[in-house]
Amino acid sequence: MRGWKRCGMGRGMGRGRGKKGKKPPKEFPGKYFENLKKIVMDRYCSNCGACVAACPVKGISIVSYSSPPYFPGWESDCTDCGFCVRVCPRWNYQPNKGLGEYFKILAMKSKRFTGQDGGAVTEILAHAMEKNIIDSAVIVRRDENWKPEAIIANSIEELVEGAGTKYSHAFPLSVLKSIKGRGNEKIAVVGTPCVVSATRKLQREMGKFSRKIALVISLFCMENFYYPDLLEFLRKKGIDISSVEKMDIKKGKFYVYPSEVSFPVKDLDEIVPSGCKVCQDFTGIESDISVGSVGSPDGYSTVIVRNKNLFELIETAEAEFGDANIKAVEKLAEFKAKIHPLS
Ligand SMILES: Cc1cc2nc3c(=O)[nH]c(=O)nc-3n(C[C@H](O)[C@H](O)[C@H](O)COP(=O)(O)OP(=O)(O)OC[C@H]3O[C@@H](n4cnc5c(N)ncnc54)[C@H](O)[C@@H]3O)c2cc1C
Repeated sequence: MRGWKRCGMGRGMGRGRGKKGKKPPKEFPGKYFENLKKIVMDRYCSNCGACVAACPVKGISIVSYSSPPYFPGWESDCTDCGFCVRVCPRWNYQPNKGLGEYFKILAMKSKRFTGQDGGAVTEILAHAMEKNIIDSAVIVRRDENWKPEAIIANSIEELVEGAGTKYSHAFPLSVLKSIKGRGNEKIAVVGTPCVVSATRKLQREMGKFSRKIALVISLFCMENFYYPDLLEFLRKKGIDISSVEKMDIKKGKFYVYPSEVSFPVKDLDEIVPSGCKVCQDFTGIESDISVGSVGSPDGYSTVIVRNKNLFELIETAEAEFGDANIKAVEKLAEFKAKIHPLS
């Protein structure tokens, strides 16, 4: 690829820029992308999008919302740099489990934003922007048919537009492919636990991401779905997606609002992607802050602060606080590890 030689090899790759680690051993002879495809993408891709962000020739892309990323023409265009494998959270996969280390756990409700639960994620991001801790954040918004779209939000208005849970894979880290090596901007990442693990790998393996990612927020997660599968599932249940204002999973049931139609989460088993079936990390133990619904009263989010330096950010946010039930979170974390064995 000519563009790569000029922009990648010439300006950085060849001179070692961005090279923080070593190329990992391959599982079999062949290009790294082929290794990634056969070992991860065809078996248990998490759909985080980190490989898209890391690919220096911008060959790996989101080709469909119902399958992992792909590199059309990889046989000729992949330069075999190995970054896709180095940043993949499922390469040499050892699942995270338990609650991990944390400094504080509390219930939180924003005084100014409405979110999925207490609006805590939107509040924390907005407050971090106001305090110049971050300039932007990777979040996921949606259209009127709930199609998710990962974006880099640069304003509080965009954060507010992205509030609320989308139970669909949005490959959020893919949007980081536009991030340049130069400049001092600070970025936050919000995502499910797999996205958090991938973000840490991006930071460990690529200099620009270690310099620029300043805050990593995990959403508690039991499982996520491919958007077309979820759409079809809801259609079969007689739900008109354009009329849906909120979806929620609570106490083993999937709720759709405003109709308040509900059905057992178990009904969704048939559309759980293979990548979610091996994940044991409920809270995202590698994050700076984990946020979820379980463990707090309705209208509040449970917030687990893991990075002590960020506690002041939480304390000074425009929010009400209360106690969270750690046992309830522990119980779900144990349950997730139990039902998703790595076989
Ligand atoms: C797929 C999924 C499954 C979940 N399962 C559970 C669960 O089993 N138990 C539980 O307690 N909590 C679960 N959560 C978390 C919960 O639904 C809320 O997201 C969390 O409590 C934060 O609420 P909030 O009001 O503080 O956030 P808000 O202020 O509403 O902000 C939510 C943030 O998350 C971002 N976001 C939304 N959807 C996605 C997505 N698909 N990928 C990446 N970012 C996204 C939004 O853009 C926004 O920035 C899940 C979340 C997701 C995305």
